[in-house]
Formats: sequence, structure tokens, C-alpha cells
Amino acid sequence: MPDRPYLFYELTNSLCAACLRKVEAKVVIQDDHVYLHKWCPEHRFQRVLISTDAEYYKLTRQTLKPGQMPLKYNTPIKYGCPYDCGLCPDHEQHSCLTLVEITDGCNLTCPICYSESSPRRAASFRSLEQIEFMLDCVVRNEGEPDVVQISGGEPTIHPDFFAVLDAAKRRPIKHLMLNTNGIRIARDAEFARHLAEYMPRFEVYLQFDSLRPAPLRELRGEDLTDVRGRALDRLNEHNISTTLVVTLKKGLNDDEIGDIIDFALKQRCVRGVTFQPIQSAGRLEQFDPARDRLTLGEIRQQILKQSPLFKPADVVPVPCHPDCLAMAYALKLDGCVTPLTGMIDPQVLLHGEGNTIMYEQNRALRDQLFALFSTGASPGSAATSLRQLLCCLPLIAVPGHITYDNVFRILIMQFLDPHNFDVRSVKKTCVHIVHPDGRIIPFDTYNLFYRDGRERQLDRLREPETLVPLTVGGGGHG
Ligand code: SF4
Ligand code: SF4
Ligand SMILES: [Zn+2]
Repeated sequence: MPDRPYLFYELTNSLCAACLRKVEAKVVIQDDHVYLHKWCPEHRFQRVLISTDAEYYKLTRQTLKPGQMPLKYNTPIKYGCPYDCGLCPDHEQHSCLTLVEITDGCNLTCPICYSESSPRRAASFRSLEQIEFMLDCVVRNEGEPDVVQISGGEPTIHPDFFAVLDAAKRRPIKHLMLNTNGIRIARDAEFARHLAEYMPRFEVYLQFDSLRPAPLRELRGEDLTDVRGRALDRLNEHNISTTLVVTLKKGLNDDEIGDIIDFALKQRCVRGVTFQPIQSAGRLEQFDPARDRLTLGEIRQQILKQSPLFKPADVVPVPCHPDCLAMAYALKLDGCVTPLTGMIDPQVLLHGEGNTIMYEQNRALRDQLFALFSTGASPGSAATSLRQLLCCLPLIAVPGHITYDNVFRILIMQFLDPHNFDVRSVKKTCVHIVHPDGRIIPFDTYNLFYRDGRERQLDRLREPETLVPLTVGGGGHG
């Protein structure tokens, strides 16, 4: 009797990529790759690559910790996940990061934009009153939100932009981020100087996809090399905490991961790099989901291959949402970069409050680590921002001379689309977005079902007998 060519690992629920009907999905392992096998009564069999690293996939499945609940849920459980967002009481994680979109307009027209933002939508600015309401909704759910990201479209073109930042700063938000393509920062010296006034607990989340013109032209529609360079000059000048956000497309710029990490480490203002594989959404062309997908697992493999700094134990699943987030922390001290994550007992990472530290040989580093990861940070010190940055890690204290400037963070952030959608995983997502009506909705499901009136079509999915294909798309800064 012949064996199956794969190992049937587990069962979950996904979506049919054509009609978005909820369908059963087998998770199977074949040749060290992990696939979803789905079957829709109407659109038949679908095979989707979800990881090129079966061992790491299994590790993410073992990285389990109880979810943290928000103070409030906002919708009832009625139709079943993912049709009840949110947050409905069945959601398994509070908002570690919440996006507040203040406009659909943009000064670019990126071919990959998942909110299809462009100058044509420039008039669609949310009013300050509406934005204050949305910020209040985050505070209502979270009390003291960990990270709020002002996003768009391109938020810096909003006529009340600084009033929006002031409104956010008036609320008990631990860390405020600005998601931007950097054009305004590059072109307007006074604007950059004004941004610096929002430090500390403020960070620029800067679109930065490539060091080469060709990938920029393909992803963004124009060569932004000069814009990126000038924006970084200004951010360095004012030492405004910055994360470089790299959208990776398979075969286009995934060979630049190591170079971008090296480049980032040389920038005074840069605290880390976030890598995001591109989604099948918005203006993207078609591709074969069983073969062409760039997954979190593959990006992690490429970091390990392209950057001599990090070893496998240094790039680990983020415990609150291990399927879609992986992280590596390093300490930048006196020109020396030391990965931290691999030195921490995984049990400490997992169980948050734990105090067990695995020491390494380097005595100085050992002392630093002890100080860095022991408890008892005093509010208002530099330690506060470091502790907030590591909100998914144990509470930490930092000695006076180590600040947020010394931390370098690599994050891999993968989103779910109709192909790789996994109901088990989406229930744990901690990256959320505020709907203009005040609901807090997982970013992944927002882009599928709740953005720009898409919910009207969702009504039909909630009545399974009248299924029709939907148009699929997603939010700004793809
Ligand atoms: S994704 Fe979360 S909020 Fe949305 S329906 Fe599922 S459990 Fe509820
Ligand atoms: S991806 Fe960002 S910069 Fe590009 S069009 Fe969309 S909102 Fe604008
Ligand atoms: Zn279908």
C-alpha cells in the first residue's frame, strides 16, 4: 500500500481564495515545506505554501501562551469567526499594536498599495473629531495602549497632522508610531524638526524597501532612493527613533535582507527593521500560491543566511502571535552588536513574568543582560521605553546608560490573506485597526471584509446559501 507523499500534521479552517467561504484546511508537511490543502465545494482543491521551514513551523505551534484580554469587546459572537469582528469575545489577544488611519489619500501611487491610495483620494481626510473618537476607542479597549500607529494612506499630508499627533500624545499611549513613506520628511526640514518634539515614546515607521532603484520602481512606481536618503539624513540629524519597514517580494528584493540590516545598523536613528512579505492584495498581479509565496519562514531563513549576526536561536516566534510574528533583539553598544534573544531562556520569553536568565560567557554582557532583563523599571526612565518596546517580553529594567538608542530589533510580520488564512491563527492576531465606527478589527480581516464598505458583501457570506465571489484588497503602505 503506498504512503501519502506528505505528512498530515493538523486540521484548521481557512477561506476559499475565490469566494471567501470558510473551508476546512489540512496542514501538511512535504519536503520540509508546509502547505494548506483546502477544498471548496464550488472552487475545488487549493494548495498554498505557508512555510519553507517545517521545523520552525512546528516551533511556532509549540509557542503557546494564554492570550491577554482587552478591557472591552465590541461585537457579539453571531456568525462565527471571521465574520464577527470585532473585537468579539472569541478573540484571543488584545491589541499589541493598533493602527489609526487618518486619510486614504497619498502622495504616491504604489502598484502594491493594499488600500489603493493615491493623490486621487487626497480629499479623503478624516476630521480631527473623527480621529479623536477613534483614538478614544483604542483607549477604551486597552486602557493604556502599547503601540498606536498613525497611518493612512500617507498621514503626513493630512492638513491637521500635528493636531492629530497632539491628540494622540494627550492620551495614555505608551508608544506612538508614524507610518510614512518619508516624502514629507525628506522635503520639509521644518516638518522633520517639528516631529522631533514628539520624542521620546515616538517612532517613525519608515517605508524602506530596497537599496536599489529597480525594486523601488516596481514596488512604489518610482525611484525613491533620493527621498529615502534625505529622509534618513533628517531623522539621523534629530535622532528620531526610526524603524525601516521593508516590503519583500520574492525574487525582487529578498536578496537584500542582509545588506539592509547592515545599512540599518549604521544609521544613528534606526532602532530596527521590520520585514513584511508582500500579500496577494490590491493592485498585485496573480501568482501561484503553492509555489510563489514568500513566507515568514523563508524570510527567517534568509536573515540567517544573509546576516552573520543572527543564529537560529536569535530569531524566535513572538509568543502572543507566533504564526505571524518573529523577532530578534540585539544590543548596540560601543559599535558592537550583540544578539540578545538567543540568550534568553525560551521559557522566560514565553511566560513573561519569569526571571530566569541564561547567561553567556561574556561577563560584561552578562551584567548588561542581567540589568536589562530583571524586573523593576521605574516609570519615566529610559527603561520605560525599552520595556514598552518589548511588551511581549518579560518586564525589564535598564541601567541609565542603556536606552532605546541601544536596542536593535528585527521583526518579521506576516499578514493573512485569502490564501494563507487560518482561523486558528487570526484569532490570535494582535495587530488591529480602528474602524471609523469604533470597532477594533484584526488588520488581516479588516482588509478582507471590513474596509471601505466591503462589509456589505460580507452579508452574503454570513448567509452561506447565497455565496458570490468578492473583490479582495487591503490597507495603506503595502
Ligand atoms: S477574528 Fe477575532 S474578532 Fe474577528 S470574528 Fe474572529 S475571533 Fe472575533
Ligand atoms: S503603499 Fe503607502 S505610500 Fe504607497 S500608495 Fe499606499 S499609502 Fe501611499
Ligand atoms: Zn470557493
